[in-house]
Amino acid sequence: MNAMTSPSAPGRRGLLALGLAALTTAAAPAAAAAHAVPAPRRPAGPLGPAAALAELRAGNARYTALRQRHPHEDAAWRASVAVAQHPFAIVLGCIDSRVPPELVFDQGLGDLLTVRSAGQALDEAVLGSLQFGVDELGVRLIVVLGHERCGAAAAAVEHVRTGEPVAGHLARVVEELTPAARATRGLPGDWVENTVRAQVDRVRRRLARDRVFSRASVVGARFDLDSGKVAFHPS
Ligand SMILES: [Zn+2]
Repeated sequence: MNAMTSPSAPGRRGLLALGLAALTTAAAPAAAAAHAVPAPRRPAGPLGPAAALAELRAGNARYTALRQRHPHEDAAWRASVAVAQHPFAIVLGCIDSRVPPELVFDQGLGDLLTVRSAGQALDEAVLGSLQFGVDELGVRLIVVLGHERCGAAAAAVEHVRTGEPVAGHLARVVEELTPAARATRGLPGDWVENTVRAQVDRVRRRLARDRVFSRASVVGARFDLDSGKVAFHPS
């Protein structure tokens, strides 16, 4: 019997803290099915924002160092989250294929509630999805995750620079990012990069002043495509 199946096994966060990466591979699916492995103990409740942020920082440090644990993918964990979910953080990120939150924060099934739209563009569906995480799942941390070389930010910059209209549904996305592009026009540095940072800050402030999200802390973050590192703001 491994520690995951022991009645005295520490809780989910305790396992994370202990760094027992081997647990995720110790319970083979076949063994789990044959012995009706009990589900791991659930956490007592959602993590507070500081503890949730610490989990994300630790996970990104593992990702950056290529020392990922790939937690919470084994059969027992899958069975436990099939009946109840307790994500500890909400990540509002871009659709970019290089920035999947579960990978860059080294998290697994049921750990993160992720909402993704190009350039973290807000609309009612996105806001309602975030609200679900706060109200129904009790999550107390929202991370607005922008990233380097964002195509949506680049499109907004191009739109502001040329004045050319944007065709189709993308127009709505560009419209949402245009204030960030306009606000950073002419500033020192790379315009797209400045737009990314301004958009994160704009969305962060928008959520922070919305009473719907008053029970959650909202932080901004930027993912560096080259290093894999996430920098949080305020850090
Ligand atoms: Zn993007």
